[in-house]
Amino acid sequence: MNAVVSQIREETTSTKTFRLDLPRDASFPFAPGQFVRISLPDDPEKARAYSIVSSPLETSYVEITVESLEEVSRRLCALRGGETLQVEPPQGKWTYRDEDRHAAFVARGSGIAPFRSMIRYALGKGLPNKIDLFYEATTPEAIPYRRELSEFADQGVGIHLSVTEPQALEMSGGAPWEGETGEWSVSAIRQRLPDFKKTAFYLCGSGKQIDHLSPKLLKGGIPEERIRAEKWGNY
Ligand SMILES: Cc1cc2nc3c(=O)[nH]c(=O)nc-3n(C[C@H](O)[C@H](O)[C@H](O)COP(=O)(O)OP(=O)(O)OC[C@H]3O[C@@H](n4cnc5c(N)ncnc54)[C@H](O)[C@@H]3O)c2cc1C
Repeated sequence: MNAVVSQIREETTSTKTFRLDLPRDASFPFAPGQFVRISLPDDPEKARAYSIVSSPLETSYVEITVESLEEVSRRLCALRGGETLQVEPPQGKWTYRDEDRHAAFVARGSGIAPFRSMIRYALGKGLPNKIDLFYEATTPEAIPYRRELSEFADQGVGIHLSVTEPQALEMSGGAPWEGETGEWSVSAIRQRLPDFKKTAFYLCGSGKQIDHLSPKLLKGGIPEERIRAEKWGNY
């Protein structure tokens, strides 16, 4: 299906969110957590997967967030708006479950993307669910959706942010970071979740983070069926 880039928002120096307008008569049902494969019209062979970051309750468009890395993502991040992209139908079985009364989302880098969709969906639908997001980025400037994350916090979502290279911030003369520092560990997550043992864990993106945390969650008493991981690669 063709979709037109109708809005571009700069989230960080290397990450942008794109709104893709769908054809007026298009049916595009998806569940939060699913992704689309996208290619540039002059290079249809090189499709890449991007999580949908908008909520299924928002129709007529989908949004994706792209971190500029190499070939395709760099070309996407260089778009100016108005271009037509090829979008394949939504895919993926790693989706948010409405029945999870308490879910913890864990990510680093662009792995935060599908959690924006899940949070917008849960809030938009008025689900009586508790959600906590544990997110780490190298510096505060590398955290996407900053304003939205504080709006989510105002609506009751637990937003726990950590910065893994605070020294880079001091060297650049940026404002001091008052929040957490370092990578999220299971013990740090556990301290912030009073009903840790009843929580469903969704982990996304970094294979390294997922491989590090999953066995520790298991050891901490979380059953395998409540550790839901979506690995994008081994970065
Ligand atoms: C199910 C799924 C969902 C995805 N959703 C998103 C998304 O919402 N936003 C997004 O920016 N990317 C997402 N990706 C990654 C995306 O598909 C591309 O791999 C990425 O944009 C790099 O493409 P490229 O052509 O620029 O570089 P490539 O030549 O394809 O890859 C360059 C290198 O970057 C590594 N890499 C891939 N993804 C990442 C990443 N996210 N962070 C750090 N290193 C990475 C690869 O392992 C590879 O070594 C997703 C991947 C999968 C499998």
